Amino acid sequence: KTLIIGVTGGIASGKSTVTRAFARLGIPWVDADDTAREVVEPGEPALAEIAARYGARVLQGDGRLDRRALREIVFAAPEERRWLESVTHPRIRERLVERLAAFRRGEAPYALLISPLLFESGQAALVDRRLVIDVPEAVQIARTARRDDVDEAQARAIVAAQMPREKRLARADDVIDNAGDEAGLADQVAALDRRYRALAGLPGSR
Ligand code: ATP
Repeated sequence: KTLIIGVTGGIASGKSTVTRAFARLGIPWVDADDTAREVVEPGEPALAEIAARYGARVLQGDGRLDRRALREIVFAAPEERRWLESVTHPRIRERLVERLAAFRRGEAPYALLISPLLFESGQAALVDRRLVIDVPEAVQIARTARRDDVDEAQARAIVAAQMPREKRLARADDVIDNAGDEAGLADQVAALDRRYRALAGLPGSR
């Protein structure tokens, strides 16, 4: 049976890089961030509900969601944020459940759910194993600053607002240490690939 591996990590920990490495080995994946964008595309009921509550100010000229405008509305209004989450989260979850069920019916030995908020969102309950990509905060801050062209103080503030490293690690079944170079990362992915294929072949594993 196809095992589902939940992959998580903080900002710039290497989730996309790790996903690409598994994808090169033929492993299918779904990204919770992509799914979150899909449920508010034009034609989706969640977008209609959001537009009904906030009006045209949250829509772009072409009818797509103006994420920045919406972010500004919910930023300082916890009740609005809760309302928005009550509209989007169940739909994201439903869609992820469908995708994961399709993976389980498929031929792959295992498949990935990539989610920055795997633990915070409750999505960890949808997977068989949890893989945490771990980097020291200093590395995370440096990679964020370089990639996103923000200064170190901003990068530090983003990291500080996320789940602490130790808490994430405490919930991990498997860990990738991504403090080193990309070759070291590829070796770790290859080792996990062997392990997950072996686990998927065992009777009693899901
Ligand atoms: P986010 O959730 O913030 O989008 P992410 O967890 O998907 O980030 P990546 O985009 O994979 O992280 O990596 C963050 C940055 O760090 C990228 O610029 C990537 O090229 C770089 N990076 C990732 N792994 C390594 C590595 N082992 N060595 C050097 N640079 C790396």
